[in-house]
Amino acid sequence: MNDRSNQNYSDEDISLIMRAPNITLSETEQEILDRILQESFDQTHPEFDHYKALENLQKNFNNKVALCKSCFMPKQKEELEQYEEYCQECYDELNPTPEPEVELQPEILPIQPEFSRPKPRPLSIKPRLLKLFKTK
Ligand SMILES: [Zn+2]
Repeated sequence: MNDRSNQNYSDEDISLIMRAPNITLSETEQEILDRILQESFDQTHPEFDHYKALENLQKNFNNKVALCKSCFMPKQKEELEQYEEYCQECYDELNPTPEPEVELQPEILPIQPEFSRPKPRPLSIKPRLLKLFKTK
């Protein structure tokens, strides 16, 4: 089996490869994944196994990239190690740090003295109806 280094994969490719077992792929994602597998492996090989192939691909990135426990996005291992296997965003979300310096200002809505509401149109009798009244 040829050993492709991960320099040929885009971030999106890597993301897809890493997430594939954990998410439901959309049709487009499935197509991209199929293309990656096709380019990376000889699928005519009698022992070709989609799942194994994917596993092999993942091994390329496993030492660098892993999935966040929460959002299943592939992140640099260093980041995940730092934040208990979460990505920074998820970690921050789970552990909101109080920031006393930044006080949330109550949102001030701009005062609108007059709502530019469309005025109700005065009822008008249509000319055609007027005619009807006249004839009798
Ligand atoms: Zn995350």
